[in-house]
Amino acid sequence: MIQELIAQQRAYYHSGQTRALPIRLLQLQKLYDGIQTYETKILDALKQDLNKSQFEAYVTEIGYTLKEISFVKKHLGRWMKPQKVKGTLLQAGGKGRIVPEPYGVTLIIAPWNYPFQLAMAPLIGAIAAGNTAIVKPSELTPHVSAVIAELLREVYAEEYIAVVEGGVEISTELLAQPFDHIFFTGSVAVGKIVMEAAAKRLTPVTLELGGKSPCIVHDDANLEVAARRIVWGKFVNAGQTCVAPDYVYVHKHVKDKLIALIREEIQKQYANPLQGEGYVRIVSERHFQRLASFLTNGNVLAGGKVNQEKLIIEPTLLGNVTWDDAVMQEEIFGPILPMFEYEDLDRVIQTILQHPKPLALYAFTESKRVEDEIVTRISYGGGCINDTIFHLGSPYLPFGGVGESGMGSYHGEYSFRAFSHYKSVLRQSSKFDLKFRYYPSESALKFI
Ligand code: NAD
Repeated sequence: MIQELIAQQRAYYHSGQTRALPIRLLQLQKLYDGIQTYETKILDALKQDLNKSQFEAYVTEIGYTLKEISFVKKHLGRWMKPQKVKGTLLQAGGKGRIVPEPYGVTLIIAPWNYPFQLAMAPLIGAIAAGNTAIVKPSELTPHVSAVIAELLREVYAEEYIAVVEGGVEISTELLAQPFDHIFFTGSVAVGKIVMEAAAKRLTPVTLELGGKSPCIVHDDANLEVAARRIVWGKFVNAGQTCVAPDYVYVHKHVKDKLIALIREEIQKQYANPLQGEGYVRIVSERHFQRLASFLTNGNVLAGGKVNQEKLIIEPTLLGNVTWDDAVMQEEIFGPILPMFEYEDLDRVIQTILQHPKPLALYAFTESKRVEDEIVTRISYGGGCINDTIFHLGSPYLPFGGVGESGMGSYHGEYSFRAFSHYKSVLRQSSKFDLKFRYYPSESALKFI
């Protein structure tokens, strides 16, 4: 059945019906309208799967997606235009151009943490670039997966955009098929499986992965702002955000003050987390157990309580943690924030450099010198100075990882690029011919 679907999509793609600008704009508008029609169902599904509040669901999933569609629609015509480039002397009379063309039949595999947005945002890129797509949502958020399937089936014909629901087995079956591009969002471990499968057919991939994203608070930082933005960026979605600050390095001179401010901020932003009011739950019992086991690492400076029945873990700050503790051995991906103190920034940088390149990095400092040192010496996907996770909200900034945190990027024009091949075309004139370019000719060497 999957083979048949791919064959249908390939035939549809080759019929040329995905290509013209007005068609792409229309299809994007159909997605926009469909999301608006399904808004209540999407919100309900997010509530059921993750206990997402309407506010959080709208801001981080639905609103974000609608804004991205509007942005892409506004600029798509310009992105699609072939770019003229200069020729060389030997190509006199010729004209070079770079033509973005769709890859063809694409596969999008999505995770569960922002289960709607992380399926839709790549899809926007796939449609904008003129591809067909098969979307495989996460099985861990089954209600959202079902709504995505219903919505896309209502809006699109399957030979253009299709949804295939399921878990590892289905994903594995999909990965064995001949796609022209695979866009995967998920863990580093599964990213490796995806790349291995893609390698068998030399299918290009975009890998949006995860990892441990550091947050450095220097002694000259605005601590009130730092505390507010760290608490917001870490505990939104109960820490189940790929770019959430994973751990904090704070300068020893400001450590106590930052701890007090973080405690206050947690109180302000999450008054009654254990009841799940306005606070997201952990996605599954297995993930809950994994996270709960970290609560014995170091000592609890804030939070630390759990509601097992509702799969809720309080926003938690941990002190006295070491890199040997379990909480520092893997991406936390939950509402637990270990904190280290430092005196020498160079040692912090050295420590980060000894670990895989992070997806994100945050630094709070008023010093341009400190900022420059961090930005130039550490390789990471992207990040913020004096904020957390907000960089992903800009369609002007490419979003993606580097090294183990991923390859390729998307959002805004970068989504269009992620789903396009840039084809080089040299159009030569046949009106005249430079004879000296042909063999045997020594003079051609002068122009090379
Ligand atoms: P995951 O890797 O377990 O699953 C992602 C997708 O892959 C799901 O659709 C799942 O069905 C499929 N999958 C799982 N195991 C598979 C296998 N063996 N073979 C083929 N497919 C398989 O990730 P997750 O738990 O859904 O998401 C959490 C991870 O994703 C975290 O590491 C997080 O940092 C990362 N993430 C990254 C981004 C980003 O934009 N860079 C965004 C969100 C999440």
